[in-house]
Amino acid sequence: MSNTKFETKAIRTQLNRSENLEHSVPMYVTSSFVFEDAEDMRASFAEEKERNIYSRYSNPNSSEFIEKVCLMEGAEDGFAFASGMAAVFSTLAALLNSGDHVISSRSIFGSTHSLFNNFFPKWNIGHSYFKCGEEDKIEGLITPNTKILYAETPTNPGVDVLDLEYLGKIAKKHQLILIIDNCFASPYLQQPIKFGADLVIHSGTKLMDGQGRVLAGITVGSKELVDKVYRFSRITGPALSPFNAWVLSKSLETLAVRVDRHCENALKLAEFLEGHEKVNWVRYPFLKSHPKHEVAKKQMKAGGCVVAFEVKGGLEAGQKFFNSIKMLSLSANLGDSRSIVTHPASTTHSKLSVEERAETGITDGTVRVSVGLEHIDDIIADIQQALG
Ligand SMILES: *Cc1c(COP(=O)(O)O)cnc(C)c1O
Repeated sequence: MSNTKFETKAIRTQLNRSENLEHSVPMYVTSSFVFEDAEDMRASFAEEKERNIYSRYSNPNSSEFIEKVCLMEGAEDGFAFASGMAAVFSTLAALLNSGDHVISSRSIFGSTHSLFNNFFPKWNIGHSYFKCGEEDKIEGLITPNTKILYAETPTNPGVDVLDLEYLGKIAKKHQLILIIDNCFASPYLQQPIKFGADLVIHSGTKLMDGQGRVLAGITVGSKELVDKVYRFSRITGPALSPFNAWVLSKSLETLAVRVDRHCENALKLAEFLEGHEKVNWVRYPFLKSHPKHEVAKKQMKAGGCVVAFEVKGGLEAGQKFFNSIKMLSLSANLGDSRSIVTHPASTTHSKLSVEERAETGITDGTVRVSVGLEHIDDIIADIQQALG
């Protein structure tokens, strides 16, 4: 399987067939597994053989999902979680000790930001942020206790792009563990391990599922680091359910075709908005006007499903636009087959001050669209009438 193309791996990686010779892999909805005899059980618990014991540790459906993502990301091993945040928390908690320090991009998922600010201080784990566009300041933030460099690209909801190759070089030079949350790009568009990432995290809830059905998370990367994450997680219990793993593994079979269409639609929407009189600016990585367009082209296959733009007229105009939307969903999710609009300043990021919002690339009139798989003419028509 390793010398086949991405789409083929996504479809043809599957568990061995049972005696029923099923074509599509069945669900292993079981909490535990049985042993042949006392010796089998002893050897299994002693980890002398690799086999399923209990679904908190491993389950065939999770293993299939993990194997696919490892092949897609070029990773050695992985562990699957009940949500993206379970993956973020468990990965960081498994690797960090009291007194350690993390350097992170400021433009990260809101709950990850809360983790750094509201919970890690309890365990004496500190952090420093760098702003997107100020990557040259990262080295100045390094302390003797810095252990991890953490980032997301493209960022949410500002759709900034960070240079993965540059982050990889800094991490290597200072022996930091580079962790990339690759959820916005999906493994189809971007594989951070190629650029030096040690671990890659995904919320499977977004493009991987792609239909807004299940929560899931996954961490993949080097065997050595994943083993630490696994040891922590098999004890603390954030494992993905077999049902959700089964759904996710099926979803990955169509990831490439779905993401191709998401990107095609998103680029068309971005181009439409760029010429619109009621729009101040549009940010999409594959628009030539994007400040990091060249970096995006170097590390991404296409621009992703998220387009950000600013409606002229600030907060009031942003909310008015939002209220005028007819077909698109008003929701906080993204990477769904249904297009979704959010107005971060009055919703997801309303608790931040104007300055804090500016640091993550959000102005009062910023609108984020997760472009779905409806016909592009209908998506544009809804946005056009709402702008009017
Ligand atoms: C949604 C998201 C998460 C968290 O994932 P959940 O599955 O909602 O827990 C983490 N990082 C990014 C970039 C996300 O978009």
